[in-house]
Amino acid sequence: MNTEPSRRTVLVVEDEPKLAQLLCDYLEASGFGHHWLDNGLDVAPWVRLKSPDLILLDLMLPGKDGLEVCQELRADSIVPIIMVTARVEEVDRLLGLDLGADDYICKPFSPREVMARIRAIFRRLDRMQNPGLHETGIVVDAERHAIRFNGHLLELTATEFRLLSLLSSRPGRVHSRDRLLDCLHDEGQAASDRTVDSHIKNIRRKLARVAPDRDIVLSVYGAGYKVEA
Ligand code: CA
Repeated sequence: MNTEPSRRTVLVVEDEPKLAQLLCDYLEASGFGHHWLDNGLDVAPWVRLKSPDLILLDLMLPGKDGLEVCQELRADSIVPIIMVTARVEEVDRLLGLDLGADDYICKPFSPREVMARIRAIFRRLDRMQNPGLHETGIVVDAERHAIRFNGHLLELTATEFRLLSLLSSRPGRVHSRDRLLDCLHDEGQAASDRTVDSHIKNIRRKLARVAPDRDIVLSVYGAGYKVEA
């Protein structure tokens, strides 16, 4: 069975259709899921229903402005919010209001810059959720059943996901093949040391696609495997 990790989804709240389309195109190209809302009234209900991973929130909106929407969201949500304003001077005022937005961007903006800010927020979140990140570059998102390596989403089978999660939970520590065999329990067949080795080989191949010059999963002769500390 292949796990199909869902992409991170960004909600674009913007009443100018062309701008919204441009942002959605860039989000798509950057590998993010996206959804567009063109007014402030629909935001909080949609967020409650769909739990996006980040919101790009325009300040001037029909229905309810970005200020109100941000306050409404912050009452019960910690979803990262990037506030988009039309004027530089406004940023100071917004900062003073202490709305709890994570970042501010001024129009006109370069979509590349917006993507960079989004990635920066996700990197920060990854680091908070996984303090071992700078050691290995591996980030396990247990909730989504996904693993990122140096920011790249790995396409792993369920077994590979379990093996790599275990190995990377304690970088530097050697895990015996017996211990790793426990990860294969639901394979429905007699798993052997050899099976472990073949899964590890596949994991290494997928890691090498991201970082060809680094050995992340090391075999320790006669003992088992470890993830480089
Ligand atoms: Ca607007």
